Amino acid sequence: MTQWIIASGNAGKLREFSALLAPFAIDTRPMSDFAIDGAEENGLSFVENAILKARHVAAATGLPALADDSGIAVDALGGAPGIYSARYAGEHGNDGGNIEKLLADMRGINNRSAQFICVLAVCQSATDPMPLIATGIWRGQLLTAPAGNGGFGYDPIFQPNGMHCSAAELSASEKGAISHRALAIQSLKAQLLG
Ligand code: IMP
Repeated sequence: MTQWIIASGNAGKLREFSALLAPFAIDTRPMSDFAIDGAEENGLSFVENAILKARHVAAATGLPALADDSGIAVDALGGAPGIYSARYAGEHGNDGGNIEKLLADMRGINNRSAQFICVLAVCQSATDPMPLIATGIWRGQLLTAPAGNGGFGYDPIFQPNGMHCSAAELSASEKGAISHRALAIQSLKAQLLG
């Protein structure tokens, strides 16, 4: 059976990716099985950072690696916070601070269109000249105040288009069926079936 290393420490993502790849006779292992430092994410786009992470793990393990990069891009802010979504307010993963800063930046702006973006990259080896790339985009509108307790990150201030609640008011399975990550996974699956 082929083995792919998942370049993430997030248990939820590891579960999702292992379920995605099992039907393709691909066994997954978390990068935590190896002593690997984090990759330097110095790309300027989700695609570049996803490739950097996947290539770094493929180089360290000698095995194919799958990485993801995601965030929220706001139209009126020229795509910010974008690849800096996790540390928009300064410190990595400060969800409350990130939401507060984004709401402050959006004060007085009428166009509240935004999208969650997820990019998956698979490098078959450290020198793979053509990584597989799959993207998912989930469009919506920024609310003016947080709503709901589910999800994570910017979910409480993101109202998916066609819905009347925030992403944080969806159940995990509702979000998991329609999110940017779900769309990217579907796209990767279609390419693997290719
Ligand atoms: P990562 O790719 O999991 O590191 O996500 C980067 C950052 O983007 C997270 O820390 C969140 O701030 C934001 N983000 C990515 N996906 C989501 C989501 O599904 N909901 C809310 N925020 C997200």
